[in-house]
Amino acid sequence: MNMTNHEQRLLSRNIQPTAMRIRILSFMVENKSALGLPDLEETFTHADRTTLYRTLKTFLEHGLVHQINDASGITKYALCSENCTCSYPDDVHVHFYCTSCEQTFCFPHLGIPHYDLPENFIPSHGSFVITGSCPSCSS
Ligand SMILES: [Zn+2]
Ligand SMILES: [Zn+2]
Repeated sequence: MNMTNHEQRLLSRNIQPTAMRIRILSFMVENKSALGLPDLEETFTHADRTTLYRTLKTFLEHGLVHQINDASGITKYALCSENCTCSYPDDVHVHFYCTSCEQTFCFPHLGIPHYDLPENFIPSHGSFVITGSCPSCSS
């Protein structure tokens, strides 16, 4: 993994590339599933919880990651694609939550249909989660 790429990715979202942020971004890039705070705590045992939480919040506020509320009760975060603005409905896509291994997968290429909502319902955000078994658990 090229550190410069991660720094550029942070800078492109107006995030100061501190060592900690680069490390967390790198971990998220390498991970195939979405991550929650407990996953970070498990990996970054020397960092305190508040720092990890604040890093995720910063990533979220700057549109580097988006938040997924699956059936696990733990808020998960997945990296946004480069031109994602987390807008409705264009950037809303399918997430898959595996009830066996409790991993959540982000499928940015699987968009959702556009719904014509009833009058005066103004959408600002969308969430789409399918629950089931992932390939490792269904085989
Ligand atoms: Zn699974
Ligand atoms: Zn996603």
